[in-house]
Amino acid sequence: MAGLGKRQNTGETSFIDNVTGQKIVKLGGLEFPPRKVWMKTFGCQMNYHDSERILSHLKDLNFSHTEEKESADLILFNTCAIRDLANTKFYSQLGEIKHNKKKNEKLVVGVGGCVAQTEGKALVKKYKHLDFAFGTDVIDSINDLVFRSYAGDGKFSVNAWDRSTDFSIETKITHGSPQAFVNIIKGCNKYCSYCIVPYTRGKERSRKCKEVVEDVRKLVKYQGIQEITLLGQNVNSYGKENNESLAMLITELDKIEGLELIRYTTSHPYDVSDELIAVHGTAKKLSNHLHLPVQSGSKAVLERMLREYTPEHFLNLCNKLRKANPNIILSTDIIVGFPNETQEEFEATLKLLDEAQFDFIYSYVYSARKGTKAAKMPDSLTDDIRGERLRYLQSYQLKIQEKLRAPLKGKTLRVLVDGQSNQKGIKKWKGRTNGNRIVHFEPVDADKNYLWHWVDLEITSATALSCQGKLLKDHGKKIESHDFQCSLG
Ligand code: SF4
Repeated sequence: MAGLGKRQNTGETSFIDNVTGQKIVKLGGLEFPPRKVWMKTFGCQMNYHDSERILSHLKDLNFSHTEEKESADLILFNTCAIRDLANTKFYSQLGEIKHNKKKNEKLVVGVGGCVAQTEGKALVKKYKHLDFAFGTDVIDSINDLVFRSYAGDGKFSVNAWDRSTDFSIETKITHGSPQAFVNIIKGCNKYCSYCIVPYTRGKERSRKCKEVVEDVRKLVKYQGIQEITLLGQNVNSYGKENNESLAMLITELDKIEGLELIRYTTSHPYDVSDELIAVHGTAKKLSNHLHLPVQSGSKAVLERMLREYTPEHFLNLCNKLRKANPNIILSTDIIVGFPNETQEEFEATLKLLDEAQFDFIYSYVYSARKGTKAAKMPDSLTDDIRGERLRYLQSYQLKIQEKLRAPLKGKTLRVLVDGQSNQKGIKKWKGRTNGNRIVHFEPVDADKNYLWHWVDLEITSATALSCQGKLLKDHGKKIESHDFQCSLG
């Protein structure tokens, strides 16, 4: 059946095959037996969230997720155009897939995400074993695209923007954890000079507050979700086009019974409003942790980055947030070695680290992204200087963290356990506090499964990067009352 094009029928139906006893999904004249999809995601939380959404859609086409590439019928990559390393890894892994395709001619290979948005057509042309590419705004049409491929549409790329004014979706989750990412805004209108996102994700569009609240209410009621992270490229810009705001949304979400913790990311300091700062003091379920990317402590570098704020403005925000919520824990992102960054400009960032007292930072060396303004700026810095500055900055910050975290020893913190760890051969469990600090603890009962339990831990040691704790109380998978007053770390 060649060249069917876009599927006509949007509704899948299913039946049980009399011979095999298997479930078969029927769609637009095609039958989909049970198949497996392997997916590799690069980049940010938004990409991981998109991947989960894609896998959830594919379930309707009878695909189940596999961790084994060799057994997959469909291989998908969700790509990132922001980081050099992620980009290099993606191209190398895409190249390797040609061996899988040689072994299995029926294998279908697709590439989505930011790289596909800007370079989809070229990718499909260049890589013979790549069947299709799809941009960031068509992920909800993944089943159409997979259908097209199985229907015989050979090699195509779709990177259209969704032009509808409303951004309306329902959160899809495929995991069994009590944590969910909830996308509330897509796109970005900021155009920071080093960033490719506005070109790969398009203009800002927000979901309506009422829709998000209803969505979260359902996640809590029917899927056991207790912790949500509101997601967007610039989440502080949420709701502007609808006369709504992030502060309004959090205030409404705070009222949902059964929801325990609200986080949000990623923030842009320019759009942090006084209304939002006030909510950090009033919303009981809002996390005590806020990630607020500053990128540089130099006024001149921030100007070249087109970040629209000064170091003074940023530090003023930190003060206001700490006034609204004295327990707030702040973290940030730093780009080291922006084009022509002078030693003086670099030192201004160290000064800002001293003043802001971040609990942790994510730091990167600048790498040029094709098509951005910064990529065309004169730049005399060498890789060596950039590397040296990054190492210096990281060790500088670790000393700050060590001092900040030392007083945690002896405190009792509540943690949601999210996995196991192996430290020097000792099996432990680990989780995150309300303030997003990682704590490891040894189980009292070695065979007990603590995954997704809320536990109270006494902190026995606190280093710059993580804490060790002693189990005081296991609340099980659900805590009866929301009481983070005893566990503010
Ligand atoms: S705010 Fe700046 S860094 Fe963040 S996504 Fe938008 S353009 Fe990129």
